[in-house]
Amino acid sequence: MNAAGANRELLLDRPEIIKVSLTNICNYRCVMCYNPGLRQMRGFIKEDLLWRIMEECVEAGIGKISLGATGEPLLHPKFADFLVRAKQQGLWVSTNNQCQPSNAGNNDNVVRAWNQPGQSEHLQCKSR
Ligand code: SF4
Repeated sequence: MNAAGANRELLLDRPEIIKVSLTNICNYRCVMCYNPGLRQMRGFIKEDLLWRIMEECVEAGIGKISLGATGEPLLHPKFADFLVRAKQQGLWVSTNNQCQPSNAGNNDNVVRAWNQPGQSEHLQCKSR
């Protein structure tokens, strides 16, 4: 096999996973993190945009989505809804967060959503 053929085999038709930042808002100021120094408007992703991203992932045959953030994803008030919708659409879903019980004010909803049928990677705590 020549080099051109080898390169073609290494290229994917589509990404394996889409990583989405749900927010750049964070309630911590970890010393090693770039987040506290971000000089940009802070906010949350709009629901409509995330629904569209999920639909386009499914249409394009991209089976994995990461609901992460450049801030703390569980601060998004709709995090549990996002998790449920991703699983309902058959997406493998992952996230990482601070594992702080107070975040989002809806931790029970998040745990229930996480336990819905579907493929997922357990919540991981960010290092702080
Ligand atoms: S919790 Fe995460 S996003 Fe927030 S400052 Fe710490 S490392 Fe950065």
